Amino acid sequence: MSNYKMAEANNRVIPVEDKIFGINQKAKEMIAKEGADKVVNATIGSLLDDDGNLVILSSVVEVLKGLTPIDYADYAPISGTPDFIKAIKKAAFGSYVPKAYTEAIATPGGTGAIRNTIQNYSKRGDKVLTSDWFWAPYSTIAQDIERSIVTYTLFDENGSFNSASFESKVKELLGSQDGLVIILNTPAHNPTGYSFTKDDWYSILSIAKAATTDPTKKITLLVDVAYVDYAGDEEEYRKFYPLLEDLPSNILVVIAYSLSKSYTMYGMRSGAMICMTSEKEIADEFKTVCSFSSRGTWSNCNRAAMATLSSIYADEELLAKVTSERQGYCKMLVQRGKAFQKAANEVGLEIVPFDAGFFVSIPCDNPDAAGEALQKEGIFAVPLGKGLRVSVASISEEVCKKLPASILKVLKTI
Ligand code: PLP
Repeated sequence: MSNYKMAEANNRVIPVEDKIFGINQKAKEMIAKEGADKVVNATIGSLLDDDGNLVILSSVVEVLKGLTPIDYADYAPISGTPDFIKAIKKAAFGSYVPKAYTEAIATPGGTGAIRNTIQNYSKRGDKVLTSDWFWAPYSTIAQDIERSIVTYTLFDENGSFNSASFESKVKELLGSQDGLVIILNTPAHNPTGYSFTKDDWYSILSIAKAATTDPTKKITLLVDVAYVDYAGDEEEYRKFYPLLEDLPSNILVVIAYSLSKSYTMYGMRSGAMICMTSEKEIADEFKTVCSFSSRGTWSNCNRAAMATLSSIYADEELLAKVTSERQGYCKMLVQRGKAFQKAANEVGLEIVPFDAGFFVSIPCDNPDAAGEALQKEGIFAVPLGKGLRVSVASISEEVCKKLPASILKVLKTI
């Protein structure tokens, strides 16, 4: 029974305030009281420059300024404009050309792609699998459409991908339900910064294949690539895509691609879900059912964002400009992450296996208490189920070099 006066909880656990928003607010209050130099706000999930300003790709802004009124005033087709569909496939895949049937549907950011995949490839009441370190909105999305998240243990005791845990959860869940959506956030996973290696992928795919030899069982691999353009070399980090070809037809791959970070269009809410399958009928069906879901939730997506991406991909020079501007910021971010990792190693602060991206995670007992103790020292990080998430995206390289020692000092007092 819920305590709501009018609203229905519908089995959802709904916090009064978003956790990250609340901590961010406290950081802002402390900055106002004590000064910015006394506070490290490592809660923010957007890329900031060293002065704390949002990084915005100026080459993208130029395109936005040149849009026509029709570009932002008119409706877009439900599944996206044809030019956008072509452009977003290129944005997601880079130079890789899939040897699979692919269809893309516009979504409001990666979030929309995640929501539409869970909605259309699981049943009400089903469990959706992801790793024990995970982006909390996966659970919000699942709950909101009457599913729930179940986790496997991402790392074994050696800090490698825990394929045994993954396998046992896949088998367990497919023992009690016919279909299973598995969310894989790679490269530069939020919150750990881990990227699946080729060997990890081989394990995942062989486990998925073994679990679906019975044709009545189905797996949807939802590959959330929200950070693919901020892990390092863009082509290198897309090399896992060919491994997703030639899968049995009862394993569907859905790529969730987001323009939020890649094109600094966080607020414009744009992205896509792109399927990869060995069967044309399954790709056609993907288009039909996902468009239906779009119509039933947000209807069509932001046309201005579609026009922007289409313009960028219609002009090689412009694309090169956007890519090179982003690469500069990616380099800055990678350096911050490596600086944090190096400093953590040097002082002996344990971090979760890290490769790249916006976040680093620190395993600890009682993360809420640890978070509060850090706040007293002017350090704001996000407590998760198994530790603390530090956003290297929102702090400078200089701060990254010093922060591990300060964090360790506080953690030792708990
Ligand atoms: N997936 C992960 C892991 C994220 O961290 C984010 C954004 O923070 C997203 C997906 C999608 O973001 P958006 O809906 O803005 O594209």
